[in-house]
Amino acid sequence: MRIHRQLGFLASLVLVIHAGPIPQPVVDYGIAENYLKSFYNLDYRRPSSTGREPDPLPEKLKEMQKFFRLKVTGKLDKETLAVMKKPRCGVPDVAAYSTFGGSPKWPTNRLTYRIVNYTRDMLKAEVDDSIRRALKVWADVTPLKFTRISSGTADIMISFAIRDHGDGLPFDGPQNTLAHAYAPSSGIGGDAHFDDDEVFTFSSPRAKCYVLFLVAAHEFGHSLGLSHSNVPGALMFPTYSFRDPGRFSLHSDDIRGIQSLYGM
Ligand SMILES: [Zn+2]
Ligand SMILES: [Zn+2]
Repeated sequence: MRIHRQLGFLASLVLVIHAGPIPQPVVDYGIAENYLKSFYNLDYRRPSSTGREPDPLPEKLKEMQKFFRLKVTGKLDKETLAVMKKPRCGVPDVAAYSTFGGSPKWPTNRLTYRIVNYTRDMLKAEVDDSIRRALKVWADVTPLKFTRISSGTADIMISFAIRDHGDGLPFDGPQNTLAHAYAPSSGIGGDAHFDDDEVFTFSSPRAKCYVLFLVAAHEFGHSLGLSHSNVPGALMFPTYSFRDPGRFSLHSDDIRGIQSLYGM
């Protein structure tokens, strides 16, 4: 009897402990920390033992939650974590601090591009066509004209790479970051890099595969000077979502953005 009563007491103790808020696994905080460092300019030092330095994490979380129109709690809740795990572009959402540049534009409407190398996921002709159509998305609503060159330095150099690829911003392996691109300027400005640890496809909506045309059209927005939009459905929204490339049309938010730089 006595043993039973003690066991009952222990059981209720366990229940009480579990009734409190379930602590987030440490791994989730790692994900959040990396995410906010990469895309929200979080300059993170772990809170000092004296507790005198305020923890910058909740404020950055709020910033991210506001951008994605989530409930602004400053806490790492389920919804926030789910957004952080979505495949997305590697360019930060806070443009002012971006190492990719502010909001400059090209001084000319005639730009060149070059496909430096290819992914093995697709036929070369499919890559060529995806890139051509992705640029056409922007050319169709502006006076911009794109000419392909096959050697030398183009304004927009397009390449597939994995992990560390020489620009100080290594890719992260499969999933998460899919690509990044640099705002207009000389040198690396305008260039678009695609993470070849992803599987790129021509058009099909398979899981964990990304339609190159869609990813490239987004990246070329950066190559032309656009930063991320917080309008869901806009091409310049930071996370990837599949849509039928055959029926693609540019969102009014993207059109407004690009025409504010280059006119109609
Ligand atoms: Zn982007
Ligand atoms: Zn790169």
